[in-house]
Order: sequence, then C-alpha cells, then structure tokens
Amino acid sequence: LSDKLDKALHVLKGHGSITEVNVAETLKEVRRALLDADVNFKIAKQFTNKVKEKALGQNVLTTLQPGQLMVKIVKDELTELMGGDAEGINLSGNPSVILMSGLQGSGKTTFSGKLANYLKNKKTKKPLLVACDVYRPAAIDQLHVVGDQINVEVYSDKDNNDPVAIAKAGVAYAKANGFNVVIIDTAGRLAVDEAMMTEISNIHKAIQPQETLFVVDSMTGQDAVNTAKAFNDILNFDGVILTKLDGDTRGGAAISIKSVVNKPIKFIGTGEKMEAIDVFYPSRMADRILGMGDVVSLVERAQEQFDEEEARKLQKKIAKNQFGFDDFLKQIQQIKKMGNMKDLIGMIPGAGKMMKDIDIDDDAFKGIEAIIHSMTPAERSNPSIINSSRKKRIGKGSGTSVQEVNQLLKQFTQMSKMMKMMQGGGGKRMMQAMKN
Ligand code: GDP
Ligand code: MG
Repeated sequence: LSDKLDKALHVLKGHGSITEVNVAETLKEVRRALLDADVNFKIAKQFTNKVKEKALGQNVLTTLQPGQLMVKIVKDELTELMGGDAEGINLSGNPSVILMSGLQGSGKTTFSGKLANYLKNKKTKKPLLVACDVYRPAAIDQLHVVGDQINVEVYSDKDNNDPVAIAKAGVAYAKANGFNVVIIDTAGRLAVDEAMMTEISNIHKAIQPQETLFVVDSMTGQDAVNTAKAFNDILNFDGVILTKLDGDTRGGAAISIKSVVNKPIKFIGTGEKMEAIDVFYPSRMADRILGMGDVVSLVERAQEQFDEEEARKLQKKIAKNQFGFDDFLKQIQQIKKMGNMKDLIGMIPGAGKMMKDIDIDDDAFKGIEAIIHSMTPAERSNPSIINSSRKKRIGKGSGTSVQEVNQLLKQFTQMSKMMKMMQGGGGKRMMQAMKN
C-alpha cells in the first residue's frame, strides 16, 4: 500500500505550481525537438528562455501535470512566434502585382502556378503569369506548361533578355487585357550573389509590386535563414512561402526565418501538383515542429476535465486546513477520469522521462479508495479522530491491515502539509518535502 500511495503522491506532485525542476526537464526536450527540426541554435535557446520565464510565472492548474501545462505553454508561444493568425496576400492594386523572389530550385515557378490557380478559383480574380527568367529557355517553357495545366495565360518574350523590360511589359499587357492580378516569376541562382540581387532589386523598383514574396525550400534548414536575410535586406519583402513541406522536414525553417526577418509566412507548398498549396497555420506548424500532434489534443482533453471551480474550493480548504479524505478521493477520481495514466504521461515531452519509473495505472488507487470508503463521513473530514478501534474497523471493512490504514493516515498528513506549502508557491520546499 505504501508503494501505491507513493505513486499517488507522485501524481499529486503535479498539483503544485510548475517547479524549476519540471521546467528544466521539459525545456531540454523542447530544445531538442527544435534542433531536430533544424531550428537555428541561438533561436532555439532564445525561445526556451522565453518559455521558461512564462512557465515559472504561471499559476497552478490543479489536475494538470506540470509537463502537460508546459506543453501547452510551449505550443502557444511557438504559435505566437510564427505569427498568430494567417495573413492573406495584398490584392488591392488594379492590377495587383505579385513578385516572386528566391533561389533557384526553391519552387518559384511552381508556386507562381499554384498561386495563380488558387486566385483563379476565387472567381473574382483573373491572373496573368509573367516569365522573367530569361537565362534558361527551359524556364520560360516550364511556366507555359504550368499555365496550360491551370488554364492561365502566360506572358513571355523569348527575344527579350531584359527581365526588367519584360516585367514592365507584362504589367502593361495585363492592364490592357483586363487581368487584375499579375504574378511575376523571376530567375534565381544557386546561392545568393550580387548579380541576382541587383536584378531582382531592379525589377522590384521598376514595377513596385503590391506584394513581394520570398520563396524558400523548407528542406534547406538553417541556410534558409541567411538567404532570407539577404533577400529581405534588398527587397524588404512582404511574406514568405515555405515549399516542399511534403518532404520529411519538420519545418523548423519557419521559426528561424520568422525570427530573423520578422515577416509573415503566408503559404506553404506541399507537393508538385498545382493543388498542393495551403494557407500557413502557425498552430499546425507548431505541432509539426514539436512532433506532437496528438499530445496537444491530450492536453486539451485534460484541461476540459479540469473543473476550475472545484480547484478553487480545494485551494481554500487546503489553506484553512480543511482538506479531508473526501477531497482526496475526488482528486483520485479526477486523475482517473483523464484516462490511462501511463499513456497520457508517456506522451508528454519531459514528463514522460520524469515519471517513467512510476508506472501508474488505475489499480494504483484501489487500496486507497477502499480504505477511504470504509471511513465514516466524520472520519473523512476530520482524520484526527481516527483512534485504534476505528482503525481496526476501517481495516476490516476495506480488507486491509491496521498497518496499511496507519500508513495511509501518516502519508495523508504529510501530503496535506505539502499541499499547504505548494500553496505558498515554494517549489523548492515542495521538492524537499517530497524527498523526506
Ligand atoms: P524555381 O527554380 O524556384 O522556379 O523552382 P521550381 O518551381 O522549378 O521547383 C523546383 C523543383 O521543386 C521542381 O521539381 C518542382 O516540381 C519541385 N517543387 C516545387 N514546390 C514543391 C513542393 O511544394 N513539394 C515538392 N515535393 N516539390 C516541389
Ligand atoms: Mg523557375
């Protein structure tokens, strides 16, 4: 029985404010997830420091494990870091001019087609594609193939090798022919160089687009940061397009880029087909980066079952030394309601490791529950009246020994003390009490 109560106590440990120990443990996991997702080391560190501050300042959520609460804080912060709500594209001009920029192979031509298709399907938009990649004849052909696929007209001029002139002529063509969106596909190089930067900058100046987008391959990881910075310094672009997220990347580039250039990520590319375009949702990306899609829903489940009113009452009782066995029983039932403890805990970064040797299942509480059920209401609310004859009766009623009843009483007293301490917010003192 002592063993079982120990387990229960460990579970109840989660009822205090988040302690520094929990935080450090969980943050280690989070940092690892970020580095695995190819987030820049400095940025990962900055992020975990921020989360740490937040976590230590958070109040108690009674039936939540600290680990779970941590997951929630981490996810919320990550979502915010990546830009809150999804941002659309500025289509205010007539025509609205959208300029694509980025390295060769990042997916500019493909995304130009996807975006044209996406806008065309909105009915009120009539897009024109303009081919400004003059260095490879195949590039112009590629855009024509894309245009044919989606039934969107492509403006090109194979006899002209001045991308600025083509861009201007493309916009003029759109105006003259009733197109209200112009998407300008440009040339990229394999790495940032001056010629490319000068060219894109000249196009940008000449046509003054409503929207300049930087297209980046999410598989390029940390390199993406330097590229984004170089393009942003020259173009001060409006948004980022993250392509090739259908690969096995976790998409850490999203965080790194957003942190460095502070521009919204607007769309993601998830395949080679024209339909493989999605609006960027920061919270989904947070899940992906942390690799914990279902952990978050578990956390939400736990929160649903947490009755705030109940928790407040409980805190009052603890403060007034009125915490009794009835309350304890309620706590146990709350914990059980959350589902299979082992599954739940095992899926939480940090908490999993923390609790791994504890091996909790619903049976862990059976003996404890039996003893409490054998107490009278008076004994439950005021355990100090339980003398030796009462102990004998309770033992018999619950099929346990007097010794086991004693054990529960002793540990209940310890726990009540501990709960009072946690109310004072003394994380360190609580940890000390746990060790004694
Ligand atoms: P550009 O040089 O920037 O114009 O890049 P492209 O549009 O030509 O794309 C380079 C390669 O990446 C092509 O083979 C595309 O089919 C592929 N590609 C582009 N976007 C995606 C995407 O979201 N997912 C996948 N899997 N491939 C993509
Ligand atoms: Mg291209």
